[in-house]
Amino acid sequence: MQSVRNAFMNYEELLQQYNIRPTAVRLLILKGIADFAAPFSLEDLYIFLDTIDRSTVFRTLVVFEEQHLLHSFEDGSGKKKYCFHHSASAVSTGTAHDACRHVHATCRVCGRTMCVTTQEIPIVPLPEGFEVENVNYVVTGVCASCKQR
Ligand SMILES: [Zn+2]
Ligand SMILES: [Zn+2]
Repeated sequence: MQSVRNAFMNYEELLQQYNIRPTAVRLLILKGIADFAAPFSLEDLYIFLDTIDRSTVFRTLVVFEEQHLLHSFEDGSGKKKYCFHHSASAVSTGTAHDACRHVHATCRVCGRTMCVTTQEIPIVPLPEGFEVENVNYVVTGVCASCKQR
């Protein structure tokens, strides 16, 4: 599978594809987000981008989510997390919404969430006329490294 970095050559282009005006600070935040290999919380991002004003980081995330550059979900412990990884790889196929269709596995011990991309979440038959906006499939448990302790 392609890594996030290889999925697109240019962050500016990526923002434009999602109809987001590429400002300097947005590009900086996007680069920071692309460094996360796994879903992250807002708090994770604040710590990682500690030179950027928190309200700017927050407002930028709102824009990114509204434009479907990334998506958020409740990780199974009540925490909101953002998944960017596979949204980015979906750019190459031009299907931002399909990007949400993977399972997230959250460890209740260390709190880490992993993207499970080996299989797409199947779309179950829905009531007639129902339009899907978001699919959230979270599995909770104990990860391999926490189980060893
Ligand atoms: Zn764990
Ligand atoms: Zn994910």
